[in-house]
Amino acid sequence: MNEFSILTQERFQLIDITEKVEKVVKESGIKDGLVLVFVPHSTAGILLTENEENLKQDWIDVLKKLVSGFDFRHNKIDDNADSHILSGLAGQEKNFPINDGRIVRGIWQQIFLVEFDGPKSRIVTVKIIKG
Ligand code: ZN
Repeated sequence: MNEFSILTQERFQLIDITEKVEKVVKESGIKDGLVLVFVPHSTAGILLTENEENLKQDWIDVLKKLVSGFDFRHNKIDDNADSHILSGLAGQEKNFPINDGRIVRGIWQQIFLVEFDGPKSRIVTVKIIKG
C-alpha cells in the first residue's frame, strides 16, 4: 500500500492527482491488476472529471448548491454537515483497471481529490492488486 499527502488551500477545491497515482502504479511494476484510490476522510472525496478551470468551478458551484438551504443538525457540533454529505455523495474511492502497466481511463478522465472542508492536510491511499 502506498499513500501521499496533499495540502489543500480552499474550503472547496478540486486537485488533480492523476500524475501522483500514475507514478505509484508505475513504481509498483505491476502490469495487470486493479488500483484503488481512497481518501480516509469523511469530508473529502475522489472524482473523475476533465481538468479544465471553468469545469472545476462549475463542479464547486453545483456541489455548493446541492447542500444549500438546509438547517443541518450536525452544524451544532462542528459546522460541516455540508462537507460530510458532499463527501458521501462524491464517494471516497475509485477503482481502475491496470493494463500493460497503465491505468485504464478516458483521455478526459483525470483523477481528482475533492476537498469539501479545507484547508486541510489530506492523505490519499493507493492500493494495487495484481491479477
Ligand atoms: Zn463534522
